[in-house]
Amino acid sequence: MPAVVLDRVSKTYAGEVLAVRELSLEVSAGELLVLLGPSGCGKTTILRLVAGLEEATSGDLWLDGQLVNNVPPQDRNIAMVFQHGALYPHLTVRENLAFPLETAGETDRAAIDRRVDEVARALDIDTELDRKPGMLSGGESQRVAMGRALIRGEPAVLLMDEPLASLDVGLRNGLRAEIASLIRSMGLTTIYVTHDQSEALSMADRIVVLRDGMVEDIGAPDRVYDAPATAFVGGFMGAPPINLVWATIWLENGKRVTVDFGTQQLTLPWAEPRAGTLTLHHGRPVIVGIRPEALSPARDGASRYRLHGRITGLEYYGHEWLARLDAGLRPADLDDVRAHRRALVSGEQVTQYLGDHRGTSLLVRLDAPGNWAPGREVSVDVDLPRLQIFDGYGRRIEAASWAAAPLDGS
Ligand code: ATP
Repeated sequence: MPAVVLDRVSKTYAGEVLAVRELSLEVSAGELLVLLGPSGCGKTTILRLVAGLEEATSGDLWLDGQLVNNVPPQDRNIAMVFQHGALYPHLTVRENLAFPLETAGETDRAAIDRRVDEVARALDIDTELDRKPGMLSGGESQRVAMGRALIRGEPAVLLMDEPLASLDVGLRNGLRAEIASLIRSMGLTTIYVTHDQSEALSMADRIVVLRDGMVEDIGAPDRVYDAPATAFVGGFMGAPPINLVWATIWLENGKRVTVDFGTQQLTLPWAEPRAGTLTLHHGRPVIVGIRPEALSPARDGASRYRLHGRITGLEYYGHEWLARLDAGLRPADLDDVRAHRRALVSGEQVTQYLGDHRGTSLLVRLDAPGNWAPGREVSVDVDLPRLQIFDGYGRRIEAASWAAAPLDGS
């Protein structure tokens, strides 16, 4: 039985802002689910709905198999940790941890102390109990905030809203690993909100990518990164970002698939698993996604999966180099996809939205620059299995399920 179920939950604020639309989601017991998306996509609203701090406009919410639509927040067995842990500055860590027990009516001093010691040990803050929050590091403060959320016992679900957002980058990276391992060792069912894709990739069992209050993609981090459901998800995940460019698909039945960027082409073999599905897109614009690490300096010998461009920039990041090539491709940004969507709906000519030659930079990840230098003309090989193709709506084009089936049907 899933620990949390949202069944077609919607939330409209003030009768106007549609913050969450028909959201259906299941969180397994002990799962660390990360809600990821840009500002305003509805992440906090979802947490507040689960906590009971907001009432859903429609839909059902179940916690541990119980329908809780009409159950008030204090009876939902929810624990919450926010960005600003809001510890009481004038109270010691011990007093901060004890506070939720006291407000819940616990008066047995010895029982309170026992529970505080137990939680402080589990979170490795037992040496900080006599300190005030102002004397703690950011990481210690967040652990105290977690301790305070968990002091009343194991919650049905732990809700964390950007708990690391106010900390500096170095501290954040260390802490997210620590928090994820704490959550896992305690077996807590957790919904964790962030707008930081690297935090989501490194912490989550599954990531839910949200956009405009709707689920754009949901899956394990490596699946969402390697095979995003939409161009938007591909563009949101990954730093440096994926290259997203417009192309047109041409098919010669039984022979080859050409991905035509206008100024240059890639020729895919007919054995390419997506060839069958791509027949539906013959002559149509598609969005091609190529991650910078799916491109590499061309090796000797011919390749049909090769692009050419002029190096316009070379950046050093310590663990890698990043080259920018002017390859004469047409970048597909989100506005383009939106315009294209509108055009398809209204029946307008879509080509007018595809832009002119804008001289986009194609990002290429390199281990070392070798003989690459700004101004040089170079070629790059595309790792074909990692070439993403999305339709004009930005939806991933998959291999048809029958494409991989053996011919005799066995
Ligand atoms: P952020 O990352 O910026 O916190 P979010 O993804 O958590 O954003 P929400 O805070 O859930 O997004 O907001 C979703 C939408 O609902 C936004 O358009 C926001 O302006 C709107 N909204 C949120 N709370 C209210 C409210 N109390 N009244 C009216 N509109 C609201």
